Amino acid sequence: MNLQRLNRLLVGSFLLVSAGALSVNAQNGFSRDPSQPVDDEYTKKIREYTTEKFFNSPLTDYLPASPNVPTPKAVLGDVSGAPGKLPYAEDVYRYMRMLEKASPRVKVFSIGTTEEGREMIAVAVASESLLAKLDENRARLAKLADPRTIKMDDAEADRLVADSFPIYYITGTIHSPETGAPTALMELAYRLAVDESPYIKSIRDGMVTLITPVVEVDGRNRMADIYNWHLAHPGQNWPGLVYWGHYVAHDNNRDAIGLSLKLTRNVLNTFTSWKAQVLHDLHESVPYLYDNTVGDGPYNAWVDPILTDEWQMIGWNNVSEMTKFGMPGVFAHGNFDTWSPGYLMFIAATHNGISRLYETFGNGGADTLERTLSPNEYQRTWYKQNPPLPKARWSQRNNNNYEQTALLISLNYFNHNGKLFLKNFYLKSKRSIDKPKNEGPAAYVLPGDDPRLGNQAELLRTLQTQGCEIHRATAPFTVTMKKKAARRGPGAAASASPSSSPAKPEPETRTFPAGSYLVRMDQPYSRIADALLDYQYWAPNDPQTDIYDDTAWTMGELANVEVVRVTDTKVLDAAMERVSGEVRSPGGVNSSGSVYLINHNADNVLATLRYRLKDVTIEAAEEPFEAGGHKFNRGSFIIRKVSADELQRATSDLGIQVFATDAPSVKTHPVKAARVAVMHTWLSTQDEGWWRLAFDQLQVPFTYISTQDAARDADLRRKYDVIIFAPVGRGAAAIINGLPMYGNPLPWKTTALTPNLGKTDETDDMRPGLGWVGLMNLQKFVSSGGVLITSMDTSDFAVSYNLTPGVSTGRPNRLRAIGDILRMKTVDSASPIAYGYGDSLAMYCSNGPIFNISNTVGGGGGGRRGGGAQRATGRGTPDDPDTPQGRPPVEAPELPRAEVWQALPLVDEQRRNNGGIIPPNQRPRVVLRYADSRDLFVSGLLDGGDEIAQHAAVIDAPYGNGHVVLFSTNPFWRGQTKGSYFLVFNAILNFDNLNAGRKTDEK
Ligand SMILES: [Zn+2]
Repeated sequence: MNLQRLNRLLVGSFLLVSAGALSVNAQNGFSRDPSQPVDDEYTKKIREYTTEKFFNSPLTDYLPASPNVPTPKAVLGDVSGAPGKLPYAEDVYRYMRMLEKASPRVKVFSIGTTEEGREMIAVAVASESLLAKLDENRARLAKLADPRTIKMDDAEADRLVADSFPIYYITGTIHSPETGAPTALMELAYRLAVDESPYIKSIRDGMVTLITPVVEVDGRNRMADIYNWHLAHPGQNWPGLVYWGHYVAHDNNRDAIGLSLKLTRNVLNTFTSWKAQVLHDLHESVPYLYDNTVGDGPYNAWVDPILTDEWQMIGWNNVSEMTKFGMPGVFAHGNFDTWSPGYLMFIAATHNGISRLYETFGNGGADTLERTLSPNEYQRTWYKQNPPLPKARWSQRNNNNYEQTALLISLNYFNHNGKLFLKNFYLKSKRSIDKPKNEGPAAYVLPGDDPRLGNQAELLRTLQTQGCEIHRATAPFTVTMKKKAARRGPGAAASASPSSSPAKPEPETRTFPAGSYLVRMDQPYSRIADALLDYQYWAPNDPQTDIYDDTAWTMGELANVEVVRVTDTKVLDAAMERVSGEVRSPGGVNSSGSVYLINHNADNVLATLRYRLKDVTIEAAEEPFEAGGHKFNRGSFIIRKVSADELQRATSDLGIQVFATDAPSVKTHPVKAARVAVMHTWLSTQDEGWWRLAFDQLQVPFTYISTQDAARDADLRRKYDVIIFAPVGRGAAAIINGLPMYGNPLPWKTTALTPNLGKTDETDDMRPGLGWVGLMNLQKFVSSGGVLITSMDTSDFAVSYNLTPGVSTGRPNRLRAIGDILRMKTVDSASPIAYGYGDSLAMYCSNGPIFNISNTVGGGGGGRRGGGAQRATGRGTPDDPDTPQGRPPVEAPELPRAEVWQALPLVDEQRRNNGGIIPPNQRPRVVLRYADSRDLFVSGLLDGGDEIAQHAAVIDAPYGNGHVVLFSTNPFWRGQTKGSYFLVFNAILNFDNLNAGRKTDEK
């Protein structure tokens, strides 16, 4: 076919297609510039790859031609969304830089690197005159973002708004199997730079569109590898994406609280340094486009109501316009609650911007597939009047059409209302500063006499990274506090109604020492600090039963650091200075003497110190003691021989206080720099990824092994002292069995075809699990003196396969502890695992497991717990013994009694010829337990808490010469649970002395 004929045909078909649509477009202000030529070849391909006409819109069913600006085809070899094309991040960047070179309307900025050193970029698209004024515009936006700079003057703000243009920040493919965004954003950038349609010209002239086309760069490249492997192996199963980023997978979108990942920090810094108004994150899951920002309740309780209105405005406009284009399956409501501030897009919500998120439909790659939906996906609901089709062919091009159409509609709406949104940006910032005199609180105070100044400094540094200003009191100050009312959380008697609460609490005062830190709420980013430091309450009877994520994240509790919410505005008048630079805890050697002492306060940097001084002999005190006028906890470090310079350098760098005194007389044992292995499965690596991340951050070295390595190594003890087996989330049997062995091997390794796989770890076949040989190797490892540390479902695994005699687990029936924070009580403070902790600790919890303890191998203790046997029908009152008639009365022996977290004492009947009785020094030792029902609740949602109350939570279970340390909770959760890390570090550093302080019960 010659070109002319092709053109005629195309023009003809275009007219046919658009005859109806054109009037709609004009009506909506989306009409095209009729004089701008179309890239016919590209346009033809768009139509070819779009599986139904109604899966496209007049905004994206053509591509405008440009004589000098290259289209995505220049890099992809085909159009965006073409089947079989999944570009690497570098290809996407190459294209964006080609655009930058060819068009004065595009600028590319490097915004940092990933954990594996790959670059992240942000691409700004706007008219050349706008791009030339970026810096002066930023200076104006900075004033709107911090109204203190204009003395909160609304008139001045109006002038600034009139002169400023807003920034709309779009981020793509944070979730690596959600693959469509990069090509959609390549084409979007092209359209915004080239298209002369009046509405696009207006967007270009009125605002800056900022685009990070790939957020999870490491994971994107691995996904592209997997897809290429799939293309090269037709008809075979392809390996699952077991690693996305270096540490975590889907949870990379839960990091906006802890800011542990570089991608989060890079996006946060870009958002706040550009003073952007919107952060719009692109995802793929449900058909065909769900604007889940509007979502469903409960909404996060700390965001400004101005923002929740903005969600509605932009979201509904999106649905409305796409509905008019006839695109099915576009909706805004749905069961996503907007409670947790952990999502990437929520950076905007908590920093006075607008958070937005699309879920579009994707095929997990660039294959075009027949997709059959389930009824709950295609059925019509009140908010989905034009639902998706029950069955349809779906292509990556369809996905790109939906993403771009929706984004163009959003940009157009946002641009039309740009001044309104800029004014709202100012108002939200101003209202954040006005917090103390409006809703409060006035400040959060972190007392200067906190026992854990290292963890306190770490928490404050996270807030600094969030953009918060931190102040430090230069003198003591006193504020009025509301006296705490009796606890009325779900842990309190469930029947207690609000009216039965005690009388109004009386005020009291509290004096904080000099050196206390203050997070003032009269600052522009007060909202994020308030959201993170406050407590959460999710009502057990909340109508939202499909809870999307964690219900609690209270940072002070999770860091084991005291944070005091102060509403008394007098706190703002305290003598204080702004902290310049990072908050650091005081460190170094403070006095002189023959022996160096470091108090064990469960500050995580103590673990760092132990490994930094790995060749230095350090002992742990087995009892508390006093020396040189200071009190030292159990577990405190005693160093007798060390280079004073080296110690000074390490401890001042880490912020650890050292006291040099005379040698104390106290029983000690060595604290070893144990050899640690972190063991992963090939089923799922995300939860253990958070453990690795924390270990790397704290420079605690470890060897990374898989369950397959454990199966191959009959002498694990030779190499390792401690093996950590973090939660897997797949059940005990799957850990043994691995993936089903049907079909072909699934390799995860570096090859020419898959250069980004392997490296973290590799295997020729991901399918085999630990297997029975691996289980035997683990048993041998522990019985020959090793320590195995397990958490949640890997604790279940250890119990199921008899590595923990005397421990059994139960599944909750009524309990709903959904990502909440619960109170633990220390049961055995002499256990090295509890060193540095007080008598209680708040821990992240997610529904158990519920441990039970017994003195026999088979479980069971005989008698009834608590001795509360109900008497049988007979004579007398409930407390009386029954008396058979016609014989003298006899006394029944007392039933054994024990607390819920304890094993019941053995009775004589059990002792007779019973090989299953566990010798007293081999019985499980409970270190922490869940608090009593009334004290259990700390933050989030707790329902049916009595089911887990008082049960053991952290157990040291001896096995042969070694130990299995079992956690019912996850002590390393999403970089948020820094207060519980040291339970694990204690087990590591004291691995060969875990029996220290143990009292054995001969019964
Ligand atoms: Zn996603």
